[in-house]
Amino acid sequence: MSELRPSPISSTTDFEADGCQHGFLRLPYSRDDSAWGSIMTPITIIQNGKGPTALLTGANHGDEYEGTIALFDLARYLRPDEINGRVIIVPAMNYPAFQAGTRTSPIDRMNLNRAFPGRPDGTVTEKIADYFQRVLLPMADVVVDLHSGGKTLDFLPFCASHIVPDKVKEAESFRLVQAFGAPYSVKMLEIDTVGVYETAAEEMGKVVFSTELGGGGTSTFSSVDRTKRGLRNSLKAAGIIKGKPEQLPTQWLDMPDADCFIFAEHTGLIEFCVDLGSMVAKGDSIARIWPIDRTGVDPSVLLARRSGIVMGRHFPGLVKIGDCVATLGEILDRQ
Ligand code: ZN
Repeated sequence: MSELRPSPISSTTDFEADGCQHGFLRLPYSRDDSAWGSIMTPITIIQNGKGPTALLTGANHGDEYEGTIALFDLARYLRPDEINGRVIIVPAMNYPAFQAGTRTSPIDRMNLNRAFPGRPDGTVTEKIADYFQRVLLPMADVVVDLHSGGKTLDFLPFCASHIVPDKVKEAESFRLVQAFGAPYSVKMLEIDTVGVYETAAEEMGKVVFSTELGGGGTSTFSSVDRTKRGLRNSLKAAGIIKGKPEQLPTQWLDMPDADCFIFAEHTGLIEFCVDLGSMVAKGDSIARIWPIDRTGVDPSVLLARRSGIVMGRHFPGLVKIGDCVATLGEILDRQ
């Protein structure tokens, strides 16, 4: 394989200096309204001597807000003397998407979380992915990517990690998930891992976890509050923030198979038969989808293909064929 060219992104901060620095990841982006312009993605680096590095990101999808708010807050208030090692904070990883309030980038329409490992000579989103892949991820020991449902999904608040081949890393990831203390903790099944940031981090042998902390393209007091507390708790459990994590109760869920995902096979007006947190049995009605072009026609009914707790749901009132309507989890007695 030929050698990749260097990333076009440069940091205005020093990754090796002690103290707290606020700066930018600058990506040249020449365009109609700014001939020699740049995309300036905010970054904070807080360091106190030798120790592990945490890489914390939000707005991998631009319309998910709990993580980004918690990270602007942490970047402002976390002091170097509160930590051992280094904390790298990028509150809005896909900054153009975050500015536009959209899941994908308005520049190239790409989903950053399907763009890994990226390319240094690719589109804007591919260049961002490449910078994380080759510059930021190699610095990290613990990788935390904070997600929410965005404009089209709504979730029970949960923290999650994946089943991975390295059982030592998997156990450490699940330990930090437990410490986060979200109301729910999930052993997560991904429907599509190609190009996913977390998968890229896992393949490098990092301790990795993520969240889904709400949704609908907004946030609430309680969803942001639990994100702030959870993040500090997990970083305490990782030995990066000093002090003992507070013990918060959490209910573990599993997503053992593809039947956990329910997809629309019709387009129309969605009427849910269950709410987030409802328990369903196999064959129970999840939602009815009404055709909207005429009256006097039966709705189509979506049935649960397995039992479980409703942990995610489609958010907008209109649904299209192929949309994810609901996700189900299995309640576990213990981790
Ligand atoms: Zn997301």
